[in-house]
Amino acid sequence: MSISKVGVIGAGQMGNGIAHVMALAEYEVILSDVNQQALDDARTLIEANMARQVSRGKIAEAEMKAALGRIQTTLNLPEIGATDLVIEAATERETIKQAIFEDLQPHLLPHTILTSNTSSISITRLASGTDRPERFMGFHFMNPVPIMQLVELIRGIATDEETFKACKEVVDRLGKTAASAEDFPAFIVNRILMPMINEAVYTLYEGVGSVQSIDQSMKLGANHPMGPLELADFIGLDTCLAIMNVLHDGLADTKYRPCPLLTKYVEAGWLGRKTQRGFYDYRGETPVPTR
Ligand code: NAD
Repeated sequence: MSISKVGVIGAGQMGNGIAHVMALAEYEVILSDVNQQALDDARTLIEANMARQVSRGKIAEAEMKAALGRIQTTLNLPEIGATDLVIEAATERETIKQAIFEDLQPHLLPHTILTSNTSSISITRLASGTDRPERFMGFHFMNPVPIMQLVELIRGIATDEETFKACKEVVDRLGKTAASAEDFPAFIVNRILMPMINEAVYTLYEGVGSVQSIDQSMKLGANHPMGPLELADFIGLDTCLAIMNVLHDGLADTKYRPCPLLTKYVEAGWLGRKTQRGFYDYRGETPVPTR
């Protein structure tokens, strides 16, 4: 089946990146959110990010203009229904995602493929609430979407081969690389990455190191491009906590228990870069550790 129109739900850091790469790959994109400000911010950010690609010679000015012209935004979820492929990238909460798929259902075309960019939630469970579990799968981009090469493709228990192939073709057209993961909590990347980030927060919580010494140790000692706490701020501490909870509940193993200090930061609304404060304070010229 051929995909030409893509609906993206959620215009946060992932949704705007997904709209960006899809539009550059010549898909028609319709981006929706419940919040007009999020849609306005997404458009501004996409323009700024594409302008940076133009200034670095990665894309031509004409490509940018054409791509921006392919992105429509809407507050009206049903408009997303008339697309070939839906990528849901709303907040990492199962009840929110389930409600979105339920509200969307009456407006879908018979052939529409549904996917979720969830970092951790069961694809099979999300699919089972829809009328098309065979045309439902996980389409997991990495952050920042325009830069990161990998897309995890996750089959639910009912996903059919045609759906997998159609999504794989989209990944190929984006010039990205697909990795196939089975539908178990947090799939591959976050199953490995999040326990490391959570352990870094425990290391801070137990006073083994400061924010700065932990990040510096992993950058210089393990050759990671970003320290784990810096990376947690980049991902969003609410998202990190939600993923740890899914691992903890889904695998029923205490080794995945979220660090109480991570919970505390989320309770404070210090969610990382997106709220300007997390393990670092981003309100000044340079980030300052908060512990
Ligand atoms: P975010 O908080 O930046 O954005 C979420 C957006 O969803 C917000 O704009 C919010 O207004 C919108 N939203 C909430 N409820 C909605 C609804 N009912 N309908 C439409 N929009 C709604 O979050 P994010 O970091 O972009 O994460 C989005 C998804 O992508 C999550 O499932 C997350 O796990 C996944 N993900 C995140 C990362 C990351 O590094 N942040 C990486 C890969 C995947």
